[in-house]
Amino acid sequence: MSDKKADAALEVWIDQDLCTGDGICVQYAPEVFELDIDGLAYVKGDDDELRQSPGATVPVPLALLRDVADSARECPGDCIHVRRVADRVEVYGPDAE
Ligand code: SF4
Repeated sequence: MSDKKADAALEVWIDQDLCTGDGICVQYAPEVFELDIDGLAYVKGDDDELRQSPGATVPVPLALLRDVADSARECPGDCIHVRRVADRVEVYGPDAE
């Protein structure tokens, strides 16, 4: 049971090198994405702190999965990556199958 839950857990990260700063992700899911003063989007945790180290991830809250997945689909920079925590396989984003 707990294994199943872990399999379903997702996390998200942004490749800032490709971010255009348009803020579409922030419109979809302001709980998870935020534009910093450098004009680029970062993921943020439930403590409201931005994770700014390259490749840093935050968990995707289940209630926000659709919004986060839509962000990854619509992101003009193709730089939002949503992957399974268990095996790091990307499920939404430019590297998803
Ligand atoms: S949608 Fe993509 S390109 Fe636009 S601000 Fe968010 S991460 Fe950057």
